[in-house]
Amino acid sequence: MKTPGTLYIISAPSGAGKTSLVKALLKRDAGVRVSVSHTTRAPRPGEEDGKDYNFVSQALFDQMINDAVFLEYAEVFGNKYGTSQTWVAEQLAEGVDVILEIDWQGAQQVRHLMKHALSIFILPPSKAVLAQRLQGRGQDDEAVIAHRMSKAVDEMSHYPEFDYVIINDDFDQALAELHSVFVARRLRQEVQQCRHAGLLAELLS
Ligand code: 5GP
Repeated sequence: MKTPGTLYIISAPSGAGKTSLVKALLKRDAGVRVSVSHTTRAPRPGEEDGKDYNFVSQALFDQMINDAVFLEYAEVFGNKYGTSQTWVAEQLAEGVDVILEIDWQGAQQVRHLMKHALSIFILPPSKAVLAQRLQGRGQDDEAVIAHRMSKAVDEMSHYPEFDYVIINDDFDQALAELHSVFVARRLRQEVQQCRHAGLLAELLS
């Protein structure tokens, strides 16, 4: 029997570096995949449909809510975002660890439904650095950046609801810390017992 994968929720204020960290983690660890969310937001330059997000109309999103497609969904910055539950369930059953890059509202819904999910919150090293990173991205206009900055404090106030907190100051260190959570989880006794059943039987015979 395959050991089911673990569901990870990763949240952060916009600009904390969550997406870059997750992309780097996927390169480092072949046992992890990230769920591609559906959103009603317009694509940013360089974003690809089906890769960064599944970009859908408001009408289609509402239809998907009615069809119970989503494990969770929420409205963030005036746009809707949701996670497809079928894909997540299939990956976990295959033994793959799945990351949901979602906001605190989605995190609350998933925690409620999936008791074994682990959650990680990523913080910037300071407000000044966060502001710089939001401006440095250069893909949104001033009003959007100001709005996101004011929302960042709201988002960050939810960090105590998460199992792990990582400060993204030095990128490589933050990546190593993030990876260590995934590695440690796979070393849990009940997981190792299942994965190495043959070895354990032999060692104890
Ligand atoms: P962005 O538009 O900058 O990519 O994302 C805005 C916010 O929406 C981020 O906090 C991101 O984590 C969140 N988000 C992205 N996908 C989902 C999702 O499927 N569900 C929820 N609840 N939030 C999401």
